[in-house]
Amino acid sequence: MSGPNTDYDPVEVAALQPEAVEAAREAALAAIAAATDLEALKQVRTDHAGDRSPLGLANREIGALPPQARKEAGQRVGQARGAVNQALAARQEVLQAEQDERILVEETVDVTLPTDRVPAGARHPLTTGAELIADIFVAMGWEVAEGPVIEAEWLNFDALNLGPDHPARTMQDTFWTEPADNHLVLRTHTSPVQARTMLTREPPIYVVCPGRVFRTDEYDATHSPVFHQVEGLAIDEGITMGHLKGTLDHFAQQMFGEESTTRFRPSYFPFTEPSAEVDLKCFVCNGVDSASCRTCRGEGWIEWGGCGVVNPRVLTACGVDAERYTGFAFGMGIDRTLMFRHGLEDLRALFEGDVRFTTAFGTEL
Ligand SMILES: [Zn+2]
Repeated sequence: MSGPNTDYDPVEVAALQPEAVEAAREAALAAIAAATDLEALKQVRTDHAGDRSPLGLANREIGALPPQARKEAGQRVGQARGAVNQALAARQEVLQAEQDERILVEETVDVTLPTDRVPAGARHPLTTGAELIADIFVAMGWEVAEGPVIEAEWLNFDALNLGPDHPARTMQDTFWTEPADNHLVLRTHTSPVQARTMLTREPPIYVVCPGRVFRTDEYDATHSPVFHQVEGLAIDEGITMGHLKGTLDHFAQQMFGEESTTRFRPSYFPFTEPSAEVDLKCFVCNGVDSASCRTCRGEGWIEWGGCGVVNPRVLTACGVDAERYTGFAFGMGIDRTLMFRHGLEDLRALFEGDVRFTTAFGTEL
């Protein structure tokens, strides 16, 4: 039979001595003060306030004391544990606040920082403009024709009735290529595409030819050594100047609005006879009270391009029966047309590749 456990165990009860409890309390408070973050504090809580901590073990020993000693030891250990738990709670609050503060700073999103997203590009207005023009003619049943940029001298000049003495054949206007006896030039207009079409196809012919052309011009607000032209050629039986006028009026209306119209002024081109300059009714003042209009400078009209009835000599040179067929041709700058359409002041904006200019045109298809 065993009686109540009143044995005095000097080893275990040593944990309940005032010095031991005080030392455990001091160690706990020092560790709490030294914890620099919540993770460290968690470990301190386990080490100094957990079941296996010195104070936790001491608490378990109280029951083993003789009744008369329990109260005093219980009070001592209870006070020490209370102080430790209070210090833990206070430290927890401080460290939690510090962590919240740090997260606010470290995880702040700076909405003003530039992003590293690759911006979406836009197709160049010259490309979309040339396509728009081609579409207008394709809708009338025409075809688009293209040719090489480096062109035979004969196709660029001779076939178009530009004799060897014509001023456009001098070095001032034309980029010639080396060696000179290859007789190759950078095409000065898109007309050789018309000559190529007539040489390779039977009438009726309805083609529109957009493309890059080259002349030894200065580079300024209205000139460039490389620019863009669109030319049209219609060859059929019974083609007259009237068909030409109607076609260009339709073209103008599609480009500049229903109110647009054109007028012809007599002119001279070697490849057409008769020939005319094409003017566009001023799209700013519409020909009304033009005196103060800066766009047309009081004229009511602005120059757009050239046109005419195809010279029979050109038809013959290109293998077309000039007795049976007649035709008309016209040509204008795509760059100039876009300047009118979009109100551009300076031709160079089209050539300088500044994305701030081109993206403003969006991704017009
Ligand atoms: Zn005007």
